[in-house]
This record gives sequence, C-alpha cells and structure tokens, in this order.
Amino acid sequence: MVAEVIINRGAKKLNRTFDYNIPKELEDLILVGSKVIVPFGKGEKQEEAFVVKLKEKSEFANKDIIKIEENLTDKQIELAKWMANRYFCNVSDCIKLMLTPGTRTKNKEKRIQDKIINTVYLKKDIEEIEFEIETKKIKSEKQIKILKFVKDNEGATIPEIEMFTDTSRAIVNTLIKNGYLEIVEKKVERNPLLFKDYKKTEKLQLTDEQQEAFEKVEKAIDENRFEQFLLYGVTGSGKTEVYLQLIQKVIEKEKTAIVLVPEISLTPQMLERFVSRFGKEDIAILHSKLSIGERHDEWEKIRNGDAKIVIGARSAIFAPLANVGIIIIDEEHDSSYKSETTPKYNAKEIAKKLAKENNIPLLLGSATPDLQTYYKATEKKINLLELTKRANNSSLPSVEIIDLKQELANGNRSMLSMELYSNIEENLKNKRQTILFLNRRGYSTFIMCRNCGYTVKCPNCNISLTYHSYERKLKCHYCGYEQNIVTVCPECKSDKIRYFGTGTQKLEQEIHKQFPNASTIRMDIDTVTKKNSHEEILNKFKNENIDILIGTQMVVKGHHFPNVTLVGVIAADSSLNIDDYRANERTFQILTQVAGRAGRENLPGKVIIQTYNPQSFAIQCSREQNYEKFYETEIALRKQLKYPPFCDIILIGFNSYNENEIRKVSNQMYEELQKELNALKNSQENEIKLFKPMPCPIDKIQNRYRWRIIIKGNMTEEINRILNNSLKNIYKQNIKDTRISIDVNPNNMS
Ligand code: ADP
Ligand code: ZN
Ligand code: ZN
Repeated sequence: MVAEVIINRGAKKLNRTFDYNIPKELEDLILVGSKVIVPFGKGEKQEEAFVVKLKEKSEFANKDIIKIEENLTDKQIELAKWMANRYFCNVSDCIKLMLTPGTRTKNKEKRIQDKIINTVYLKKDIEEIEFEIETKKIKSEKQIKILKFVKDNEGATIPEIEMFTDTSRAIVNTLIKNGYLEIVEKKVERNPLLFKDYKKTEKLQLTDEQQEAFEKVEKAIDENRFEQFLLYGVTGSGKTEVYLQLIQKVIEKEKTAIVLVPEISLTPQMLERFVSRFGKEDIAILHSKLSIGERHDEWEKIRNGDAKIVIGARSAIFAPLANVGIIIIDEEHDSSYKSETTPKYNAKEIAKKLAKENNIPLLLGSATPDLQTYYKATEKKINLLELTKRANNSSLPSVEIIDLKQELANGNRSMLSMELYSNIEENLKNKRQTILFLNRRGYSTFIMCRNCGYTVKCPNCNISLTYHSYERKLKCHYCGYEQNIVTVCPECKSDKIRYFGTGTQKLEQEIHKQFPNASTIRMDIDTVTKKNSHEEILNKFKNENIDILIGTQMVVKGHHFPNVTLVGVIAADSSLNIDDYRANERTFQILTQVAGRAGRENLPGKVIIQTYNPQSFAIQCSREQNYEKFYETEIALRKQLKYPPFCDIILIGFNSYNENEIRKVSNQMYEELQKELNALKNSQENEIKLFKPMPCPIDKIQNRYRWRIIIKGNMTEEINRILNNSLKNIYKQNIKDTRISIDVNPNNMS
C-alpha cells in the first residue's frame, strides 16, 4: 500500500503530495487523515506529514512511512482541502487547526493556582524562518526542531519545549538571543470550570417572542434540516436564554452543540450561564488563556465523546465534536470570526458548511447584525427571528449628542463638554460609576511641527510614532521601535512641535486635573497585556467600585456593570474617518454597544456622545438605537457605490524587503490577471474591476515593503480558479523574498 502525503510546512512549493510506502505493520492503522512521520529531502530529515489519499501502488514511492502520530477523519481532510482552495493557502496550514493542541498535562496539581509563567512565542514571521531553514541560514537540527515545535505550540513553556523536543534550555536561549523566539510573561488561568461550584438553574418561562424564535429553530432540529437563522435582538433581550433552551433540546436528542463567542466575551460570567444550566462535566471550553496542557485536555475530552457542548472562540469550530445538532454563533457581527493570519478563514463560512453537511440549523445572534447577514435575511436566504424587548424589562438608556464644534465656539477647549462634565460630577456625588470611551481606531497621539508640517515616523514602518506620556517616549505600534521625544523639529529646527490627538493617557490626566478625588482605571493596548488581562481590569473596576473606567474598544464587551449609569463617548468621529468602506457600520456597532453598557439593571442609564459630526446618520441612528434605519441608509450607499454585500473585495497583498522585486512581481500578477479576467468578462454577468498594483496605505512594516492589488467583483468559482492558478504560476518563477497573500473581504484595509 502507498500513501499520498502532504508535508507539514508552509513553503508554497510543498503544497503538493508525495508518495510513500506503508510498512506492513502500519497498514491497518493508517487512514486518510493520519499525521505521520516521513523521511524527506536530501538529508532524509524526519518531517511531519498528513495522509490525504491511500492507493495500491505508485511508481514514485521509494521510501517508507516511519510512524503514525495522530489520526484525523477523512471529513476533516476534505474540509482542509476545501479551505486551502477557498482561502488560498496550504492544506497543511488548515490541517493544523484540527489537530490536538500541544501535549497532555503531566501534573494536574501544578495548575490549581493562577500563576505567571514564561511562555515562548515566535518572534520572526514563520515564512521567513522556513525560508532561512531552506536556505541553510539556520542549520542546527536542534534549533530547527525547537522552532517547529514552537510554531505548532505557541505559548509553550521552556520546560515543555525541552521535554518534547529533547533539547536544552541553552538552545532556546540562543534562539531568543538571535531574535527568533521571544519570552512573553503570561498569566495562566486555571480552567475556570474546574474549581468552582455552580448553583443549578432551571429553564425560564420564555416570552412570546423568545418562544416563537425557539420553535422555528426547534422545527429545523426535529426535521434534521439545514437552515440559517439570525436571532436579532437588543442586548438583554434574552438571546442567551434561547440558545440555552435550544442546546437542551439538542442534548435531549442525544446530540451535541458548538457555541462560538468572540474571544474577549468568553468571560467566567458568560460561561457560568452555561455551566449552571448544564453542569461542568458536559462542557468543554477552548480558550487561548488556558495552558497548552489544558487545551489539550479539553480537546481530548471532546474527541473521546465526553463533552456535549463546546464553547470557544473562532477556532473552536474545528473541535472534533461528533454528532453535532446545532451551531450557534453569538455576536455574529464581531470581526474576530474572520482570521487575519494564514489560513485567513471565516468561521461563519466554515460553520455554514458544517451545518449544511450535517443537516442541522446554524443560529447567528446579534444586537447589531453584520450588514451582510441582515441583507441575506431581507433576501430571505436567512430566517430572521426578532426579539424587540428587553427580557427583564429594564429600559434602554437615554442618549444625548453633543456638538464639539459648538463647545469650541463657546470657548471650551477641554476634552469634556459642559454636559459631560456636569454629569460626571453628579455621578461622583451619587457614588455611581462612569465609563469614558475613546474610539481610537486610526486615532492616536502623534507629533507634528506646526511650522513645517513634519511628523515623526518610524524608520522601519513609515507610520507615525505614538507618544507615550508615562515613559516620555515615542513608540511604533507595529514594530516596537522607540525613541526619545523631540522638542526641536529635525527638519526646520523650529521649536513649534505639538503633540496632537487624544490618547487614553491624556484623558486620564485631564480627569485627574478636573476631578482630583475621583479614582480611575485605564484599559487600552498599553495596560492590557498578556499578563494583565482585560478581564482583570474589568473585575477590578467592578469589585473595587472605581469611579471612572477610561478605555478604548475593549471596554465594549463582556461584563455587566450594575453600578454604571453614565457612559461618555469622548469623540465618536475617529472611526468615521478611517479609510474603509465599513467606517459607518463600525461606528454604529461600537456606539450602540457602548450605549448598552449603561443602566443594565434597575438604575436608568445615560449616554453622552461627543462628536464633530452630529449630523452623521451612523451617530444619529445609534442615538435612537435604530438598527433598521441605519441599515436602510447604509445598504443604499453600499449598493450605489458597489461595496459588499453587492460584491466582494479581494485584496492581493505583496510584501518584500526588495522594492524592485515587489514592483516586478505585483505587475506580473496584474498583467496575468488582466488577461484572464478580460477573457472572462464577455462570458458572464459578474462585473469585475481590477485595480493596478499600488503601495498599501501603510507601505512599509518592519522594513518590508507592502503593495496590493484590489479586485472588486463576486468571488465565483471561476475567479477562485484564476486566482489560485496565477498564484501558482507566480511562485514557479524565481522569486527571492516576495510573499503574496490573498484575502477576501479583509477586516483591515490598511
Ligand atoms: P442577551 O443574550 O440577549 O443579552 P440574556 O439572555 O442575557 O440576553 O437576558 C438578559 C437578562 O434577562 C438575563 O438576566 C436573563 O436571565 C433574563 N431573561 C432572559 N429571558 C428571560 C425570560 N424569559 N424570563 C425572565 N427573564 C429572562
Ligand atoms: Zn519643522
Ligand atoms: Zn515600526
């Protein structure tokens, strides 16, 4: 017998199969989907590989498979192949998502306490490392072994690395010193379910709206039928209760359930809802904060059939759960369901495919649905289920819009409008909590010379450096480059240097000045690290009853804060001005969600939105909490300007150290695509627009130049084939270090 295998490496030219003989003693054990070890290449190095096909014989097979490591199902292999084609990546990149993470925990006692440990991450890009291995820049077998292990097990500890690669700490340290690996302090949380007792909760009596939604999905479950549903209801309208009862239904039918939530919403409070209903034995959690060993244990629990419910972030869609009866995706509008790294898959698309294959319902839930999802609902491709009232009858907060231009005209130059100031004052007097939200997307403190317009930029990345007042340093948020602050302009030598923008630090300082007695806590990229999680900051805010929480996007999700009655949005405009077709949608979503933080229990809430664009419809609609009105306006604009959902945006990204090569390669690809697409145009309706190669808005990151080609049109199978072919053709040529990636409807256009 012969096995066709795919080598587990990222190199594009290895994205094909190789034939190996199966030794007699392994014949009954090897399946399509087995992870095996094979001798490969000149030195017959041992490489990991995946079996994708079995056959009687092959004239090319002249070596034997060495051993089997793990078996996947052929369904999983099918999915990986489908993904590789759809997301323009290697099959092995996709298979990796389906393998058991890491290794078994050796000692359960050791992880009862939360503790800080040193974990190891790749510091260089994996493709670059593989390139260096291939070109023999890295030669040491042991170093290569470690790099490969860390690639598959990011966040492993040094003892874990030593043990599983049979190497020593000294080699790890060399790799750190040479810039391949880095140490990140991480707080490993004990599995939140293991050590706590939960009170059992019973089903609630559903409201009429909940009942109607429930029955429609229940019918699809009973009829073993694939159907997509959108459960659209404001925060607090009882979506989670509907999920819980549907899961119960599925379990009664001896089936299982997958629940996806955004990583950041995967809080103990959220999990408690599920555990207190179903008990912890039946639930597996896949969370990046768990140690590798614990992730491994959860995965095994699923594989062994001991878990009936899997709750996790994006990649939990690949959990080896058998007999799935429903897939639920909560906060379906969240951009984290789309992966921004290879493979650039969309968990919603994978979920739909799985639901279809298994003849089960897919339930999407949101208070502010993705425009694309809602559009499909209006087109009757998705069944719309609505919850219009808050389940516990708490009222929605009142929202007020403040025109900052007017404030300025009245002589108020502070970051706080008169209205917001007096409301904070009032709140402090009444011992209630306040959240101040700084919408910081594309908005940070930068430095400019008012004499000549010079701004200080990162020499590696060509983007403005951000001012950090605490360290009095200028830093690059992309590569970490830092330098001292400047007081004299390097260009014109004037001293008219000004610090622009409004960071969270500056806001905190201003609050301390205006309210010297108020306690504050800040949450942003600088305070949230792998060590101090977003979770802990929010807990501290809640438990220590701190007066004011100042934060960016991150404050929007997760917790319920019973004592928060005021939410202030400092400047709603910054996300309106980003260079992205989703600017309005993002603004609306984020403002609606922040507003939902105020007054969730018996206290009424107030939201104050400060803006320079009070007339913007995204801001107006979020004041009224009127999703439908927002949708009608925005969808008309998208249609007129031809943006998704009326087409797809395909972004072909190039990056390289070599400016000449990146120009050459992107132009070659452009010309080839132009030829192919022109030939197509006459034969079909789909209007395709191909734009010339251009440098990206951020045209250099970490010394790599960045170019892109944009295609607007519908991503059909035909187009997919053309793109895959042209990618293959380009890589056949002699390219030194240009890398190409293709992303369909990417989250980030910069
Ligand atoms: P969502 O998921 O839409 O934000 P939740 O399911 O969290 O809403 O419900 C909000 C609150 O209302 C929760 O405290 C929940 O226990 C309560 N709730 C939900 N459904 C009902 C119901 N049918 N009867 C009474 N309370 C309910
Ligand atoms: Zn100057
Ligand atoms: Zn930089």
